[in-house]
Amino acid sequence: MENGSSKQIIDKTMTNEHQRPEKQMLDYEQFISYCGFYCGACPTYTSGKCEGCRGDSPNCAVGYKKCLVKPCCVENGFFTCADCSKYASTKECKKYNPASIRFGEWISSTSRRKGIEMIREKGLTEFLALMTDKKWVTIKTKDTFVNKKLGEKLYVKHGTSSKNLMTKANLFMLFIAVIFMAACAGNPNKWKIDGKNVNSSTFELRAGQSAIYQGNINGGNFKNFSFKAHVSHSEEAKASLLIHSDVTLTKGYSIFIGKPTDDRRRSGSLASVRNLYRPSPSSFDLEVNVEGKRIVVMIDSVMVVDYLEPAAPFRAAANSEQLLSSGLIGFRVADGTLKVVITDITPLADHLPDYPDDREPVDEQNDAVIRLQQRDFPVIDYHVHWNRTLALEAAFEKSLADGFEYGIAVGCGIGFQLQNDEQVKEYITTNRHIPVLLAMQGEGREWVNIFTKETREMFDYVFTDVLTFQDHKGRRTKLGLNEEVYIDIPEDEYMDVILDRTVKALHEEPVDIFVNPTLLASAMMEDYDKFWTDERIAQLVKALKDNNIALEINARYKIPNARIISAGKAAGVKFALGTNNRNIQQLDRLEYSLQMVEECGLTIDDMWFPKKQ
Ligand SMILES: [Zn+2]
Repeated sequence: MENGSSKQIIDKTMTNEHQRPEKQMLDYEQFISYCGFYCGACPTYTSGKCEGCRGDSPNCAVGYKKCLVKPCCVENGFFTCADCSKYASTKECKKYNPASIRFGEWISSTSRRKGIEMIREKGLTEFLALMTDKKWVTIKTKDTFVNKKLGEKLYVKHGTSSKNLMTKANLFMLFIAVIFMAACAGNPNKWKIDGKNVNSSTFELRAGQSAIYQGNINGGNFKNFSFKAHVSHSEEAKASLLIHSDVTLTKGYSIFIGKPTDDRRRSGSLASVRNLYRPSPSSFDLEVNVEGKRIVVMIDSVMVVDYLEPAAPFRAAANSEQLLSSGLIGFRVADGTLKVVITDITPLADHLPDYPDDREPVDEQNDAVIRLQQRDFPVIDYHVHWNRTLALEAAFEKSLADGFEYGIAVGCGIGFQLQNDEQVKEYITTNRHIPVLLAMQGEGREWVNIFTKETREMFDYVFTDVLTFQDHKGRRTKLGLNEEVYIDIPEDEYMDVILDRTVKALHEEPVDIFVNPTLLASAMMEDYDKFWTDERIAQLVKALKDNNIALEINARYKIPNARIISAGKAAGVKFALGTNNRNIQQLDRLEYSLQMVEECGLTIDDMWFPKKQ
C-alpha cells in the first residue's frame, strides 16, 4: 500500500493530457520545483492543470506566478536553490522570500526553505522519501499550530493519539516535577506575602493581599523567563499576575485572573494590550513566557496571547508604565480568593532576540486597535470568513498576531458550505477545540426552515444579512449582485421594498446580529444618505430593538453611516464589529468599524457580547 501512493501519482501523471517524455515522468526528481516544492503531492499538478516549473513549462500555477526563483536557478545552472552558495540560507535571498509568500507560509505553517535545507543536508532521495510518505507539497512546520520555539508547550488537538501522548507526557512531567521539587527545594518556593517571607510554592491570597517572588537569583528580578502555575479563583475574584514589576506591584504588565471591574474581560488578558473576552475556566494552568520583546500567555496549554511589543509602543497616560524592562513577578488580589500552586519559574538568558524571525510587531503609532485596547474597548471581529482550504487553526494564529479575537462565520443554507444539521454537527465537532468563536451565517431566507434550534445553538451566535429576498414581483433578488436586482419602479419605492423585507426578516428570523446592514442595490449606494431618511432609520432601529438584535458595523461596505449608528445607540441597540472579508488579505484591522466607534463615541456598554461569554 505504501508504494501504491507514489505509483498512483506517476500513473495519474502518465494519463493526463500534458504528455511528457517517459524518461522524465519516471524521474522523481522532476517532481521537485526549483524552490523546494514536491509537486507530486499537489492536486493541481497530478490532475494536469499545472505542469510544474521544470523544462519549458511555465512557472507553477499555485500562486507563485511572478516566480523569481526559476529564472535565477536556470541562469546559474542550479537544480534547486540548495545548489546555491551565495547565501547561507534562502532566508537571506530576496528573490526567494517576497512578503506575500512569507505571509502565506506563515499562515499555513509551511516552509519551502525547510525543504531546501533538507535537500542540502540530506540529499534529494531522502527529501523525496519524506514528501511522498507524508504526501506533502511543502514541509509543514507544525503538526498542529504548535510553536516550536516554545518547546513542549503544545496546543494539543483533541485527537486520540495526541491525547494519549499528552497524558503520558504529563505523567512523566509530573513524576519529574515531584523528584525535582523534592531534590532542589527552593526555586519556586521563595515568596514574600504581605511583607512576610513564606517558604512554599503553594499559597492562598485573599482580597487585598499580594505575593512577590523572591527567587534564588538576582532577588527574583528577571528580564526573560518562563513561569508556570496552577491557579484557581473564587467566582467573584479580581486578581492579576504582574510581570516586570516592582515591590509595589504597580509597574509592568498585568495578566488577569478572574474578572476585572468591567466584568467582560477574561483570564489570560494582557490587560489593556490584548484584552480577551472568550469564557475562561476558574481553575487552570497559567503560563507566561517573556523572551525579548515577546510576551506569551497560555491557559491550559493553549496560547491565548502572543504579543510583540514594538520599538515605539502606544500607551495611554494611565498605562505609561506598562512596558517591558525587567523586574519582579507577583500576584495581587483585589477581590475574592486566589489559590496558587507554582510549578516552575525559570529565568532565561538576558540576551534573546527581540522577535521570532518570521514575525514583526504591529506599528502601534499608526494603529487604531491598540488605542481601543488601551481604553479597554472590546475589539472583536465577529464576521470573519476563513479560506476553506486553510484550517481554522491558522485563523486563530492570525488573530493572535492581529491582537483581537475572531468569530469565524460559515454560510448555512441551500447551496452553501453547510446545508443540513448533520453537516453543522460535523463542522462544530471538528472545530470546537479551536479558540475562536464559531458563527452561523443564515443564508437566503430559507435557512430558518433548514436548521433546528438545537443546531443553531451549537454555534456561539447566529447572524444574517437581508441581501437575498423576493422583490415586489416575487423575483429572487440578491442585493450584492447587479444581475439579480430588478429596479423597475422608482428607486424611492424600491427603497421601501428593501426596508420592508429587512424589517420582516428581523422580526421573523432568530438571529443575534444583523450583518451587512443597510446595504442598498449598488445603483442606489451613491444616494445612501438620501434613501436612509430619519423615518426609515427609526423603523429599522425599532425592529432591531424590539427583537434584541445587534447591529453590525461593517468594515467591508463601510456601513451603516454615523447617523444610523447614533440613532441606534440612542435607542439602546447593541453593536458588533465585523469585516465580512472577501479573502484573508482583506482581513485588515477593522478600519471603518473602529473609526465609527470613535466617531459615535461607543463604549463597552454599547457593545453586544455572545450569551455564553
Ligand atoms: Zn458574511
